[in-house]
Amino acid sequence: MHSLTKTALSFNGIGRRCVALNRFSETRIICRGLTCTAEHENELYDVIISGGGMVGTAMACSLGLDPNLEGKKILLLEAGNKKVMDKVPDAYSTRVSSISPGSATLLSGVGAWDHIMNMRCKPYQKMQVWDACSDALITFDKENLQDEMAYIVENNIIVAALTKQLENLSDQVRVQYKSKVVKYTWPKSHQVADAIPWVQVTLANGQTLQTKLLIGADGPNSMVRREAGIPTVKWNYDQSAVVAVLHLSEPTENNVAWQRFLPTGPIAMLPLSDTESSLVWSTSHRHAEELLQLDEESFVDSINTAFWSNENHSELVETAGSLFRTALSVLMPSAGSARQLPPSVAGIGPKSRIMFPLGMGHASEYIRHRVALIGDAAHRVHPLAGQGANLGFGDVACLTQLLSQAAFNGKDLGAMQHLLEYETERQRHNLPMMAAIDLMKRLYSTNAAPMVVLRTFGLQATNTLPAMKVSMLSPL
Ligand SMILES: Cc1cc2nc3c(=O)[nH]c(=O)nc-3n(C[C@H](O)[C@H](O)[C@H](O)COP(=O)(O)OP(=O)(O)OC[C@H]3O[C@@H](n4cnc5c(N)ncnc54)[C@H](O)[C@@H]3O)c2cc1C
Repeated sequence: MHSLTKTALSFNGIGRRCVALNRFSETRIICRGLTCTAEHENELYDVIISGGGMVGTAMACSLGLDPNLEGKKILLLEAGNKKVMDKVPDAYSTRVSSISPGSATLLSGVGAWDHIMNMRCKPYQKMQVWDACSDALITFDKENLQDEMAYIVENNIIVAALTKQLENLSDQVRVQYKSKVVKYTWPKSHQVADAIPWVQVTLANGQTLQTKLLIGADGPNSMVRREAGIPTVKWNYDQSAVVAVLHLSEPTENNVAWQRFLPTGPIAMLPLSDTESSLVWSTSHRHAEELLQLDEESFVDSINTAFWSNENHSELVETAGSLFRTALSVLMPSAGSARQLPPSVAGIGPKSRIMFPLGMGHASEYIRHRVALIGDAAHRVHPLAGQGANLGFGDVACLTQLLSQAAFNGKDLGAMQHLLEYETERQRHNLPMMAAIDLMKRLYSTNAAPMVVLRTFGLQATNTLPAMKVSMLSPL
C-alpha cells in the first residue's frame, strides 16, 4: 500500500472523506485530487465473492462473462492458494464429483468445460442402484434419457479449469488468493450518521474492502452465514464417507456408476477410466475409521464384499419382492431393466484413502440486505445422490441471471428485490431435493423387514417408470 495513503487513511477525518467520495462516485478513492494507489484499501466493489471453491470460482467466471455486468468491479477472495494445473498428474485425485449435464452446461457457458474435457473427465451412460437387503434395483440409462447421464470429474480439475478461465477474465474480475476474511461489518438498515452503507470486509492481513453485494461461497461452515446471523437447520449424520481411488481387476468399458445401499450406508463406485474408479463409502464413523486402518488387501476385500455379498438378504423380503416383480412384469411386460454386475476391485491408489464426517445443513434464508449465500454455504447434503456441487452450480446460474437483469435495469446489485427472487427460486428447487436425499438416507439406514419390503416395492415400481426416473434426475 502507498505509504502516503496509508497514513492519510489512518486519520479518521480524511478516511471518512474518502469513504464519502466513494459513496457518491463509486469509483476509485480520490484524495485531494490524487488517485490513491493504495493497494485496494477500502476500495468499493460492486460484488465481492468470499470463497473460491468450485462454486465461488464458477460464480466469479459467470459474473465476469456477463455482458450486462461489464465495467462492474468484481473481486474473488480465497483463503487458500491459487490452484493451477500445468500438467494433469498421472494419479487420479481422491476428491471427485458427479457433474450433471445441467452443471456441464453452466461450466461450458463460463468457458471452463473445454478445459475440463482437455484435462480429464469421464462421462457415464448408466447408473445402477440396488438394495443390499433385497433384489430390488433401479437403473437409469441412456435409453431413458438423452445424451450422457453425468460426468465424473476430479474437484481439483474443475477448480483449475475455472481458475484458468479467470486468468482470461482478469480485466473483469480481480482475484486475491491467500486472503482469508476475518470480519464482516454489515450496513445498517436505517440511516445512521457516518455509517457505511456497504458491507465491509476485513482480511487477515488487516486490509479492509467494501462491497455493494457480498456473495458468501465459503463452504459448509460459512462465516458469512454465521456472522450475518442467518438461522440454519443442520445436523450431523451418524456416518462418515470413506473415499479412495480404486484399481479394477480388469479393464472394462466402465461407463456405469454403481451404488448399493447397505444397512450401514451407501457404497458407490464411480467410473474414472477403463481401469480405475472412485469409491464413496458412507458408513458409521467407527466402521469408517476401521476401514482407514485396514491393510490394502483387507480394504479391497471389504469393498468387494460390500458390493457382492448377500448376507443381508432375508427369505421374507425376497419372496415379497419376487411376487411384486412378477406382478409388475405382467402389468408392464417391457418395463424394467436387467441387473448388471459391478466390476471387482483389485487395489487402491497409494495414500488415496480419506474420510469425511457427513452432515446436512440448510440456511433458512439465502439472502440478507447486500448478502447472498451460494453453494455449501447455503445448503449441504449427503453425498448419496452426488448433488452438492450441482445444487451450487444451479445457484450460480440463477444468481447470475438475476444480477444481470438488475444491472441491465440500472438497479443496485445489493437490493433486496432481486435477491429475494434468487432466494425463492433456489429454495423452491433445493428444498425438495434436500428432503428427498435425507429421506433416502433414512429409508435405507435400516434392515427392519417392513421397511425393506416397502422400499423394495418402491424401487421396483420406480424402475418400471421411465418418466419418473427422468424427473428424479433434475437438471440443476
Ligand atoms: C464424499 C463427498 C462426495 C461428494 N460427491 C459429490 C458429487 O458426486 N457431486 C456433487 O455435485 N457434489 C458432491 N459432493 C459435494 C461437493 O463436494 C460440495 O457441495 C462442494 O465442494 C461445495 O463447494 P463450495 O465451493 O460451495 O464449498 P467449498 O468447497 O467448501 O469451498 C469453500 C471455499 O471457501 C474458502 N473459504 C472459507 N472460508 C473463507 C474465508 N473466511 N475467507 C476466504 N475464503 C474462505 C475455502 O478455502 C474454500 O476454498 C460431495 C461431498 C463429499 C463430502
